[in-house]
Amino acid sequence: RRRDREFEQFRDRLKDADQFKVLDGAFDDATFAAIYKLVQDGYIGAFGGPISTGKEANVYEALDDEGGDVAVKIYRINASNFQQMREYLEGDPRFEGIRGDKKAVVLSWTQKEYSNLRRAAEAGVRVPEPIAVQRNVLVMELIGQEGDAAPTLADVDVENPETAFEVVREYMRRLYDAGLVHGDLSEYNLVVYDGELVVIDVGQAVTIHHNNHDEFLQRDCRNVANFFERQGADVDAEALYDYVIEN
Ligand code: ADP
Ligand code: MN
Repeated sequence: RRRDREFEQFRDRLKDADQFKVLDGAFDDATFAAIYKLVQDGYIGAFGGPISTGKEANVYEALDDEGGDVAVKIYRINASNFQQMREYLEGDPRFEGIRGDKKAVVLSWTQKEYSNLRRAAEAGVRVPEPIAVQRNVLVMELIGQEGDAAPTLADVDVENPETAFEVVREYMRRLYDAGLVHGDLSEYNLVVYDGELVVIDVGQAVTIHHNNHDEFLQRDCRNVANFFERQGADVDAEALYDYVIEN
């Protein structure tokens, strides 16, 4: 009883907080319960503002209970494109036999982003360190400083496109060696911080078991090559693809 009341108070406080009002339909009770659990476990101490409000998820700055910066990505259970999400889960041995309904898909998706971050980090790719996952809520390292999220590659002047390209190419190769294809790689999912490039948004990344992984990889190569070409680098999508898949 008392615990229920505490949760309700917590939820109502969050619902009233300015940064959660930006949301159209706000979150459901189960999402608030997940956040509440992360708060009780010390992963989240206080919320800052939203960094991004996207189609599937919102990303917030927050502090953990020791005052360290974290990023909190909250997926909407009512994501409009869950059909597409489901397709990205197909063939992935980690999610074999999951239920096909909206909720199950979004929860698996969040778990998948967490696992992909871990796997990418182990493969030597610079990604936000995954910290905790609870239902549709993912806590990870904030890329940026003192509550200030770093810009994406699309938002900065790229000083040395050749070098930056080589870094991205190496990341793609390492991911592939670890059995992963990002699937949405572009200047929008690369964050620039402290002279480093950081790969983000790996929820849709598929394993090489996925029927379309090769198509996704080719698309990633085209996006990356196009961007760096526009920056004046002498690169090409096919050469990039060959580099990534050669062992
Ligand atoms: P979406 O699916 O909405 O594109 P992303 O994971 O790409 O979700 O996050 C949206 C935006 O939030 C990114 O473009 C980036 O600016 C910011 N962002 C996401 N994760 C982090 C992080 N760990 N640190 C700093 N900024 C982040
Ligand atoms: Mn993104």
